[in-house]
Amino acid sequence: MKPKIGFFDFTSCEGCQLEVLNFEGELVELLKLVDIVNFREAMTEKSDDYDIAFIDGAITTEAGISRIKKIRKQAAVLIAMGTCACLGGINCLKNFRTMEENLKIVYGDAAHYYDTIPARPVDAVVPVDYYLPGCPMNKDEFITLVKALLLNKKARLPNYPVCVECKLAGNVCVFEKGETCLGPVTRAGCKAICVTSGRHCWGCRGLVNDPNIDSEKEILQKHGLTTADILERFRHFNGYLEVSK
Ligand code: SF4
Ligand code: SF4
Ligand code: SF4
Repeated sequence: MKPKIGFFDFTSCEGCQLEVLNFEGELVELLKLVDIVNFREAMTEKSDDYDIAFIDGAITTEAGISRIKKIRKQAAVLIAMGTCACLGGINCLKNFRTMEENLKIVYGDAAHYYDTIPARPVDAVVPVDYYLPGCPMNKDEFITLVKALLLNKKARLPNYPVCVECKLAGNVCVFEKGETCLGPVTRAGCKAICVTSGRHCWGCRGLVNDPNIDSEKEILQKHGLTTADILERFRHFNGYLEVSK
C-alpha cells in the first residue's frame, strides 16, 4: 500500500506548494511511491483519507485553528512546510498591531465580516513531527524527508549557522563589505543562497538552537544598525519568537 499524502494551505503565498510542483522530475518519481490525495493547488479531486499531511502557511484565523486540529487528528505524520508554517514567518508582522487595526487596513468598512487572530506557527496549535523551513522550503530537504519517511527513518535539520555554508561556498562575508547579515544565528540548509546571489541572510530558516543573539546584536550595532533596525530585521521572519516570549 502506498502512503497517502495531502498538502494543505493556510495563510501564506502558497509558494511552498508551488515549489513542490516545480520539482518536476522528482515529483514524477515520488508519484511512483506515494498517492497524493489532496493538493488544492494541483488537482481537483480531494480525499480526507491521508496518512501524511504537509502544511503550508501560518495559522491566522479561528477557522484555521479548527481546521488544523482536524488535519492533525487524521494524519499519522504532520509536516510544517516552509517558514510560514514552521515559524509564522512574515505573517507575524501583523502581530505588532492590534487585530482591529489590521482588519481596518485590509478590509476597510467590510472589516467586521472577517476573522483574524495573531499569526502563529502550526506547532503553536498542534504537535508537528517534522519541519521544512525556508521561504520557500528547500527541495533537497523535502526529498530527504520524504525518503526518510518512506524508509521509516528520522530526518534531521542542520543545527549550525548559515555562515558555515557561506564559507564553504567561498563567499566574502558581507560584514567585510560594510553590510549586515543574520547568517551567524540562522539555521543552515539553504547553502547560503542569498549571500551567494549577492544579498545577505534575512533569517528565513529560523534560528539555530541556542543562538548567540547578544553577539549578533553587538555586531549589527557595530555596523551601524539601530535597535529599531535590528528589531525590524529579526521580525521579518522571526517575529513570533519575540511576541511569544
Ligand atoms: S514560506 Fe515563503 S514561499 Fe512558503 S508560503 Fe510562506 S511566504 Fe510563501
Ligand atoms: S555573509 Fe553572512 S552568512 Fe556569510 S559568513 Fe558573513 S555573516 Fe555569515
Ligand atoms: S541565506 Fe538566509 S534568508 Fe537566504 S535562504 Fe538562507 S536562511 Fe533564508
